[in-house]
Amino acid sequence: MSSLHPGETREARQSRLAEADHRHLWHPFTQMQEWLAEEPIVIDSADGMYLVDATGNRYLDGCSSLWCNVHGHRVPEIDRAVVEQLGRVAHTTLLGLASTASIECAEELTRIAPPNLTRVFFSDAGSTAAEIALKMAYQHFQLRGDPERKEFLSIRGGYHGDTVGSVSLGGIDLFHRIFRPLLFPVRQAPQPYCYRCPLGKTRPSCEMACASEVERVFESHAGRIAALVIEPVMQGADGMIAQPPGYLRRMRELCDRHGALLVCDEVATGFGRTGTMFAVEQEGVQPDIMTVAKGLTGGYLPLAATLTTEHVFESFLGPFESRRTFFHGHTYTGNPLACAAAVASMRLFRERALVETLPRKAEVLARGLSSLADHPHVGEIRQRGLMVGIELVRDRKTKEEYPYEARAGHQVILEARRRGAILRPLGNVVVLMPPPGMAEGELASLARVANESIEAATARLG
Ligand code: PLP
Repeated sequence: MSSLHPGETREARQSRLAEADHRHLWHPFTQMQEWLAEEPIVIDSADGMYLVDATGNRYLDGCSSLWCNVHGHRVPEIDRAVVEQLGRVAHTTLLGLASTASIECAEELTRIAPPNLTRVFFSDAGSTAAEIALKMAYQHFQLRGDPERKEFLSIRGGYHGDTVGSVSLGGIDLFHRIFRPLLFPVRQAPQPYCYRCPLGKTRPSCEMACASEVERVFESHAGRIAALVIEPVMQGADGMIAQPPGYLRRMRELCDRHGALLVCDEVATGFGRTGTMFAVEQEGVQPDIMTVAKGLTGGYLPLAATLTTEHVFESFLGPFESRRTFFHGHTYTGNPLACAAAVASMRLFRERALVETLPRKAEVLARGLSSLADHPHVGEIRQRGLMVGIELVRDRKTKEEYPYEARAGHQVILEARRRGAILRPLGNVVVLMPPPGMAEGELASLARVANESIEAATARLG
């Protein structure tokens, strides 16, 4: 399938594959009418931090293949672990059976997670991990004799996945508004988006009024909120919205004061992205439930986990006939191939002392982007570790946005492709999310491409 047909050139193969893509595929989060009018880049292989297309062009993987790759591609240690697992068994169920790979994976995961999170419920995507967190928190309170705690609180601009439960928690109008009639109601608090404060305030005189708004929701729904669900430190999908220091700690305090669980969605931020293994560590916070996915397998295979405490776990214990069981599970829950990749990836973190290298790498990236700080079309650069959002604006003084139809972010990523890097924008925000394993020289190259691409695209856009 992937090899050249007899007598076929690479270019002919590219055309054949592109044509078949256009005939059969429906791409996620993609306006397919536009897609069908353009020749797609067809990624055929990879080499370390580079993706290689069907005609042999190489591109630096500047978005970690959608925020999941960690150590690069074709990592010998992870490849070997998956092949060895294939030699034993590719899939076996966790319903009624245990498996070596899932046991080892849960052990490794609880070793690096906040110490109170000792129980691991596996699934296969960030969205399913969020669904599990929701149902787990809800049932926990039902079982504890607190049945009125059945509401959820989340933060506007949040993103927790695309299934109906996780969309209910979400707060990105562009993605979620059309589905509102299908969703269950969730209380939402204002976004801590300091550059465009929804409360019209400025730091530090605001005294984190957005956090006080969360408190207000808790107070007006006293005894009814089961959990606050939040992306810790950085809201990713809404455009890399970085929270002010102390915000997450306040959320922990509020949950404690009001008897709610704190659910931290580390699907994007986990596994080194923000400079620590998990973002919650930066505020010394231990959540009651934490979801992980994307980087769990080093970006190799779909695997997710919802971690929780003994306290939550114990709510579900009882004799068979008590029906306190958590009735939830997916066919591929704890898939052994994915678990083997995850174990190998987490061991590599340790062997390479990867987290210790991150502050320096973040600095290299920050230095490479520093000249953009004064660019007339850059409103703000938001960076936490290796997660970066560069917000483009038409007018820096008034913060006037580029109109949606200008596709400003998209224009930048087209320029980046010409310069040998793959990026993916979020509206007018150019996102850089390189794998934590990327070398300093490659990070500097990525920053250079971002600089040049923003310069070229905004010169045209005006
Ligand atoms: N939660 C967060 C914070 C995310 O960024 C994402 C995906 O980008 C998800 C959940 C959903 O994960 P998945 O796409 O694996 O369902």
